[in-house]
Amino acid sequence: MRKELILSLITSAAVGVSSYASTEKVSAVDDFNYTLEQFADLQILRYKVPGFEELDLKQKELIYYLTQAALEGRDILFDQNGKYNLRIRRMLEAIYAQYPGDKENKEYKELETYLKRVWFANGIHHHYGMDKFVPGFSPEFLREAIAAVNINTLPLADGQSVDAFCAEIFPVIFNPAVMPKRVNQAHGEDLIVTSACNYYDGVTQAEAEAFYDAMKNPADATPISYGLNSRLVKKDGVVMEEVYKVGGMYSPAIERVVYWLKKAKDVAENNEQKSVISKLIAFYESGDLKQFDEYAILWVNDLDSRIDFVNGFTETYGDPLGMKASWESLVNFKDMEATQRTETISNNAQWFEDNSPVDACFKKEEVRGVSAKVITAAILAGDLYPATAIGINLPNANWIRANHGSKSVTIGNITDAYNKASHGNGFGDEFINSDVERQLIDQYGDLTGDLHTDLHECLGHGSGKLMPGVDPDALKAYGSTIEEARADLFGLYYMADPKLVELGLLPSAEAYKAEYYNFLMNGLMTQLVRIEPGNNIEESHMRNRQLIARWVYEKGQPNNVVEMVNRDGKTYVVVNDYQQVRQLFGELLGEIQRIKSTGDLEAARKIVEAYAVQVDPQLHAEILARYKKLNLSPYKGFVNPVYEAIVDNNGKIIDVVVTYDEDYATQMMRYSRDYSTLPSIN
Ligand code: ZN
Repeated sequence: MRKELILSLITSAAVGVSSYASTEKVSAVDDFNYTLEQFADLQILRYKVPGFEELDLKQKELIYYLTQAALEGRDILFDQNGKYNLRIRRMLEAIYAQYPGDKENKEYKELETYLKRVWFANGIHHHYGMDKFVPGFSPEFLREAIAAVNINTLPLADGQSVDAFCAEIFPVIFNPAVMPKRVNQAHGEDLIVTSACNYYDGVTQAEAEAFYDAMKNPADATPISYGLNSRLVKKDGVVMEEVYKVGGMYSPAIERVVYWLKKAKDVAENNEQKSVISKLIAFYESGDLKQFDEYAILWVNDLDSRIDFVNGFTETYGDPLGMKASWESLVNFKDMEATQRTETISNNAQWFEDNSPVDACFKKEEVRGVSAKVITAAILAGDLYPATAIGINLPNANWIRANHGSKSVTIGNITDAYNKASHGNGFGDEFINSDVERQLIDQYGDLTGDLHTDLHECLGHGSGKLMPGVDPDALKAYGSTIEEARADLFGLYYMADPKLVELGLLPSAEAYKAEYYNFLMNGLMTQLVRIEPGNNIEESHMRNRQLIARWVYEKGQPNNVVEMVNRDGKTYVVVNDYQQVRQLFGELLGEIQRIKSTGDLEAARKIVEAYAVQVDPQLHAEILARYKKLNLSPYKGFVNPVYEAIVDNNGKIIDVVVTYDEDYATQMMRYSRDYSTLPSIN
């Protein structure tokens, strides 16, 4: 599971905030350039890897090998996202490298932007919205540009002419009716046939479901994640899997991943980590999902290593049926100082549970806080690049989570880069009510945002209990909104508790106001910048935030606790009484916990439909217009740092040096040159 970027992260307007933990290492006077470029609806950022230099040589070497293994999987994701993606990317890259014409020409510029979007999305569909990109250049221009490049650099199929290539590829790029959506979730349609992703070929949804239903044994207490690492195809009328493994599908890329993992294994920090890497290699070699589970169990039990990684077929968001996993990698090491913060929270989990404002019968007698690690990302790759999550909670298999636990991490340096990049971007000046709130947020916003995330992850999700006999899925489609609201409210309620100051987690008794203001402003208005005009709110984190903010706004009206005022046609959120806001958060937490604990589907439906879904069209239009003027990008992604291994005369690594000066296009072209082993057609 991925933790989603909370939009309030882009709201703070401070320059040079000093705060605790991971952000403290980046000094207040920070001349690092966090922002690189902007195009379409995207902004490219850079992140630092604080603490890398202080690692010892063996640790640096391990990270180096793991980053190489991470980069080798890039082509896999392109192909998983759509079967024409590699061909389109390579064709565009050939033009980008060789175009002899005027590069200031409008059509060329449009082609360049299109390629940058393809790089960003790892394919021709929007990474978040899933819709196919609309090219701003003409088929005629593309045909001319193709004719101008060396034919040997074009990704033609065996014996294919350039004309035949264009006839095959152009409809995929230009015809809006061809592969319009990467992942289609619309009810009532064949989700496989209508989705452009490449996890299935020639099979219908019914055939795929029948294929996997036949494999599953509902009585199995340790069920295999069937389908996770394969494409399902129909060959000669037979439905069968093409397994991603050495010697199977995507073998050339997987062999390279394995090559670097073997080197990593030799410099592992300890025996536990060595067996984790060995088991992953074995899984890549066999494709056997039983070994994948064994690997996941070893991985979740390795808590001592400073360096950690994700590498493989992991998340299933890219498959409309939610079974097949996209390839991703993240290499990281523990941020010792910031992890202290989550350990403090976790060590006090019972106190928080005992003092929470929910009915005693819904509380856990014995609660164990999750000790969320704060990590420093060293590289982002596959489905975590360039757009990334700010935290990860793995493994995904429920039975492994229940029997062996899970690792929940927050990526400190990424969160920090988002914060730093947003300072001074004008967002706060536009939407925050006054200098009073602005100052609070400047001073405490980054820290309280991090802390709220920690409370949400370490305590919120793990708090409370179900009444005997209540089905965990009783809340059906409303379940995830209610669950996110529960975790957010638990954190919000405690943000204002003196206990946090006492534990040294907050520097002052009023710091929490920064998060309260940010949260309410976001939930009442500013998160709407992510919604297209005319649409309602669908995503469960966004629903949860609006639910909380609207409920508190409405219930506080008799006492004027929170207002929405209008000045010169602009709406602002005003918080008149922060302590009453806290009381209301507590009340709502009590009700949300009751709904969860008793499985009260009717109450869940009512509260979600009443507060979380509908958008006020007038306010929405106003927010969109104000946001548009700021010329900010709703989506952000990162370039990676560059790691260079310094070797002696015998080829032995004597140091690994990290630099940050590579730009977006240079990095993408380098990756396509150095880490691109798959054929164009797989
Ligand atoms: Zn959550």
